[in-house]
Amino acid sequence: MTTATLAIQQRVIELRRLLQQASYAYYVLDAPEMDDAVYDRLYRDLQELETEYPDLVTPDSPTQRIGERPADQFTSVRHHIPLYSLENAFNLQELASWQDRWRRLAPEAADVDYVTELKIDGSAIALTYDHGLLVRGATRGDGVTGEDITQNIRTIRTIPLRLNLEQPPARLEVRGEAFLPLDVFRQINEERQTKGEAAFANPRNAAAGTLRQLDSAVVAQRRLDFFAYTLHLPDEVAGIDAPATQWQALELLQNLGFRVNPNRLLCPSLADVAAYFEQWDTARLDLPYMTDGVVVKLNHFDLQQQLGFTQKFPRWAIALKYPAEEAPTRVERVVVQVGRTGALTPVAEFSPVQLAGTTVSRATLHNSDRLTELDLHLGDTVIVRKAGEIIPEVVRVMPDLRPADAQRYEMPTHCPACGEPVVRPADEAVTRCINTSCPAILRGSISHWASRAALDINGLGEKWVEQFIDRHLVQSVADLYDLTVEQLLTLDRMGPTSAQKLVGAIAQSKQQPWPRVLYGLGIRHVGSVNAQTLSSQFAKVDDLGAAEPEAIAAVYGIGAEIAQSVYAWFRVPANQVLIDRLRQAGLQLALDPDQVQPQGAQPLAGKTLVITGTLPSLSREDAKAKIQAAGGKVTGTVSSKTDYLVVGSDAGSKLEKAQTLGVAQLSETQLLDLLSSSN
Ligand code: NAD
Repeated sequence: MTTATLAIQQRVIELRRLLQQASYAYYVLDAPEMDDAVYDRLYRDLQELETEYPDLVTPDSPTQRIGERPADQFTSVRHHIPLYSLENAFNLQELASWQDRWRRLAPEAADVDYVTELKIDGSAIALTYDHGLLVRGATRGDGVTGEDITQNIRTIRTIPLRLNLEQPPARLEVRGEAFLPLDVFRQINEERQTKGEAAFANPRNAAAGTLRQLDSAVVAQRRLDFFAYTLHLPDEVAGIDAPATQWQALELLQNLGFRVNPNRLLCPSLADVAAYFEQWDTARLDLPYMTDGVVVKLNHFDLQQQLGFTQKFPRWAIALKYPAEEAPTRVERVVVQVGRTGALTPVAEFSPVQLAGTTVSRATLHNSDRLTELDLHLGDTVIVRKAGEIIPEVVRVMPDLRPADAQRYEMPTHCPACGEPVVRPADEAVTRCINTSCPAILRGSISHWASRAALDINGLGEKWVEQFIDRHLVQSVADLYDLTVEQLLTLDRMGPTSAQKLVGAIAQSKQQPWPRVLYGLGIRHVGSVNAQTLSSQFAKVDDLGAAEPEAIAAVYGIGAEIAQSVYAWFRVPANQVLIDRLRQAGLQLALDPDQVQPQGAQPLAGKTLVITGTLPSLSREDAKAKIQAAGGKVTGTVSSKTDYLVVGSDAGSKLEKAQTLGVAQLSETQLLDLLSSSN
């Protein structure tokens, strides 16, 4: 057996303490202290360490118990049949390995199907019906003992007090999820906040808190709801066929008078389960209640019985959770990046974690103010967050899990790229390198110039940019236009064909329109949207260069800060030289007359569009720029907030999602028609 080092023992103790504390806050106080995904990840860390070092397992470890001991305001009741928790899978691979595991235990199982149900984020409830009458409602508690909350359960309108059954059996048990609809959840939180009380962190805790209210009148006001999902019947019940499958049990529950979630599906294979999981990933956002995954159950009861339970879970079911947006991980090192504006950005590098469906191994620490706030030490466990398309960031440090010898991370005093001292203006959070010939700044500005949304120079990757700078071939973007094939041939790993192509691509970029050139200049605060807006009002570089800040700020969508930044940029002599050189090189510094948009023409103002597939004539970047110039927003994923899906050939899953959600579709022609609709 492997022996745990002192550091590992310490970490196990700390994890256990932290998880116990979190569980107490979550289950007993209904006021969680950490995000569920973070809890789940730390729980896994502990589980993994305990598997590797079984000596470290203690009976009070959170991995050894289900739920929490019941609080003492209510009478404790022993469940007639224990309530188990569910094993978690965090991705489809883990789902497949669950299938492998149960198959090993039941290799002869044939004609297997799965029932998929939504995992409602509420509180598990056990209901007892004696001779058809509701006699007891209890919380799950630790699975063996729960709290008697019958009075409160009776206020839930969708729980029948009497079963719809002519000859009810002596005893029948139903399990399901009590939950708060989202609108009620929001309303309760508003009320609590007006009264100066702490808001509930999520609907699940609000539901659990409500169920354990001592005053049933308060519970009645809160409109709790209930979905039934498990039925325990005696073998023989007069007048009904005993269900042989979960699917039949759900139908029977419905006939008995319970509300059963209609969004269930019988799946003959894991591929169908995966499709269901994907479909509900976005569709669930439109449901009036919260879900955090799907529950996959083997349909046939005889197979369920054969597989049985572990200490905590049924082996025949698993909860497949939707990707987390937050996770804990350990910072291995911090690197500092120097951007094209000279800003130094500290970036944490850590062991990879799965976030919002992608693998993440670095996250921004923003700037030195943020570093001070976080008090980051190397080796710290941190919480990393990535939501949708947002860049991953470190949101919190967990000082309790800090190794004893960890060193505080300090921002460098010198630029890591050029070695010059860095400055930090008093009114800014950003530390900057102000050396105009800093190779990192130059590299950043050339890469930005060549990027797809700017001059879109195909083939001008980092490896070439780096060599241009190291060999002093390029000191500004204007120098790109003087490069010759012969010069390129002196670079490492550059052959004649690539050199020809690159010179050609650079020359071709001279045809890119003025808004892209303006964006490519990298003026602070002028992103591609602002560049579009500015160039539609200042059709020539000279007009923009001559404009007073007030005139620039008068453009709809451009604020004073942007205006000041543009004005200041044109006042720097080196920038004037750059514009002159770009003009001589033949770049487009004015709009084509037919591209000039009348003031205020924003046919897509406030609309959100998604592009999928290959469009017949427009590139993605062009389509995006046109939409943005018309006031629209382009995002990467289809959701209920999407107004239009622009569809090209070979469209993929986005099209399916749009069809499911009923999002309007546009062809390229229809998009162009819309764009010109108010001209
Ligand atoms: P769980 O919530 O992960 O899954 C089991 C539960 O799912 C069941 O008890 C049931 O209530 C529910 N469920 C919903 N729909 C269902 C359906 N159709 N069929 C069957 N069950 C369904 O497990 P758990 O043991 O209740 O709670 C553990 C979870 O609690 C952790 O994963 C964690 O996210 C959370 N937790 C968080 C903290 C925190 O500090 N944030 C602390 C402790 C626990």
